[in-house]
Amino acid sequence: MRPIKALISGDALRHNLGVVRMCAPRSRVFAVVKANAYGHGLMRATTALESADGLALVEIEAAVGLRKTGYARRIALLEGLFDVSEVALAARHDLTIAVHSREQLAMLDAAPADARFDVMLKINTGMNRLGFAPDEATAVRDSLLKHRAVKQLTLMTHFATADDARGVEWQVKAFDHVGADQALERSAANSAAILRFPATHADWVRPGIMLYGCTPFTDQSAAALGLKPAMTLASEIISVQTLNAGDRIGYAGTFEATGPLLAGVVACGYADGYPRHAPTGTPVLVNRVRTRTLGRVSMDMLMVDLTGIADARVGSSVVLWGEGLSADEVALAAGTVSYELMCAVAPRVPMVDV
Ligand SMILES: *Cc1c(COP(=O)(O)O)cnc(C)c1O
Repeated sequence: MRPIKALISGDALRHNLGVVRMCAPRSRVFAVVKANAYGHGLMRATTALESADGLALVEIEAAVGLRKTGYARRIALLEGLFDVSEVALAARHDLTIAVHSREQLAMLDAAPADARFDVMLKINTGMNRLGFAPDEATAVRDSLLKHRAVKQLTLMTHFATADDARGVEWQVKAFDHVGADQALERSAANSAAILRFPATHADWVRPGIMLYGCTPFTDQSAAALGLKPAMTLASEIISVQTLNAGDRIGYAGTFEATGPLLAGVVACGYADGYPRHAPTGTPVLVNRVRTRTLGRVSMDMLMVDLTGIADARVGSSVVLWGEGLSADEVALAAGTVSYELMCAVAPRVPMVDV
């Protein structure tokens, strides 16, 4: 069996939820578990996060699956329903549904007579992706408050720039404008806003990336935020090559040795979810020592520099990201974000609880 594994730490997930609680002590928490809990495994993650006040995701099949395992707290569908055929299913399983469009309002109108939903009315305050514009949202809010299929209404928005210098103030103004005269529950904050903008916390916060131990920011590390990595992508060296000056490594020979060099072959490639576009120099740990990748990542393998790593040999441990090397750093080197790395871990990589 190939030695690659994704080690998932329930303790880290619980710890990171504790950080959310410390940051937002007066808010309830929707733990965001879309995309198979950002690649960590839905059941494993939701078990570790059982003290969250609710779960939020975008896949209705996964939401129904959670109900079937007995999950009794709120489950929110952040993008709501995709088709009117889902209305009865969502009602039967008491799913909280976002309503972001006229089409979704029509689905509510078509709901069975006994269907009653918790609805999150999504307001577009500047992301310009989903939601009603603030000037139409007030009218939609009022019609939902009277709607036979609505048992509770929460106002929701999503921030586009909570992780950078532009902040959230420009969107908060638009959000406050809707429902300022109504005592409705509100939900706005993602991880970045939870960490930096306490004024946005309101009734329900929606942490995703910070639960998994990565940072939403480019100027502050996960460790500096007190977060612990929940996923460690680990493998081993399966071959060692001795190179001389002028020898090249891998497809297209993009890396050329300038002198004698010991290179290790790691059982991890892009078919495991490691980014193919990670360039030479992307950080990696061998025997817990930080080194770099060499040459192109191939489907099942990648190469690393073993210079200066005592005892490096076939069987040596490799950490692609996680414990000791944040996925944020690997993502930065590969021109992406940790979210994408974790979501992309392939089904062929076994997940192991640690
Ligand atoms: C994914 C998502 C979140 C979580 O965002 P993070 O940056 O991972 O904290 C919150 N709200 C909505 C609507 C989302 O889609």
